[in-house]
Amino acid sequence: MSMAAKRNEARAEHIEANLRALRERVDTACEKAGRSGGDVTIIAVTKTYPASDVRVLAELGICDIGENRDQEAALKAAECRDLDLRWHFVGQLQTNKARSVARYADVVHSVDRARLARALGARVRAEERELTCLVQVNLDPGSAAGVLGPRGGVDPRDAVALADAIAAEEELSVGGVMAVAPRGEEPAGAFERLYAVASEVRDRYPQATVISAGMSGDLEAAVEHGATHLRVGTALLGNRGTNVG
Ligand SMILES: *Cc1c(COP(=O)(O)O)cnc(C)c1O
Repeated sequence: MSMAAKRNEARAEHIEANLRALRERVDTACEKAGRSGGDVTIIAVTKTYPASDVRVLAELGICDIGENRDQEAALKAAECRDLDLRWHFVGQLQTNKARSVARYADVVHSVDRARLARALGARVRAEERELTCLVQVNLDPGSAAGVLGPRGGVDPRDAVALADAIAAEEELSVGGVMAVAPRGEEPAGAFERLYAVASEVRDRYPQATVISAGMSGDLEAAVEHGATHLRVGTALLGNRGTNVG
């Protein structure tokens, strides 16, 4: 076997072991919460990692792939066009990137303003595609209303109005909510607040069942508070280092 082939095999084994450990964590958290493991979808956040890792994940049965930067995501989606994947855009999104994202994304988790919903609607329409959008909720009570928190998202009180703006675009569907736990607070309390916002959105849009919450460091708390989709990078693929991601 060539050096390159050996390296690829070692990488695949490493990811497989990480996935096994991750699944155990998720199953344990589900058991504790009285939920079924099948209710929780793992999205592999592959930012900074190559398309070859996406292929490994797909072979292991992980077909939900998350990215947070358009340029990188567009390239990787093109490289993996032959695979049957769902691409999740999870990063802050400038309106002028809507056109590119509309070409490959299946779900945008980070819709945080009506203007972005309108831009995505127009671009998805032009591409003759469909797109599921999640309302990104700012769970940081320390950031003033109307001002973007450090990690983005709409004020919880405005979440339903933003869902209305998404629903007003024919090609967009309201899928649910997404959040990143704020720093400097136990994640459980934040995820509990997210659950309340998710319920409000779902009261109005019954199909909006997604709660995208929980990353490598806080997925247990997210599962406990109803997360349906976990966005996991580090625990699957390793540390990204300090300069990126
Ligand atoms: C990078 C990223 C993740 C994954 O974080 P890990 O801690 O590496 O699991 C999840 N959500 C968003 C929005 C991200 O940017």
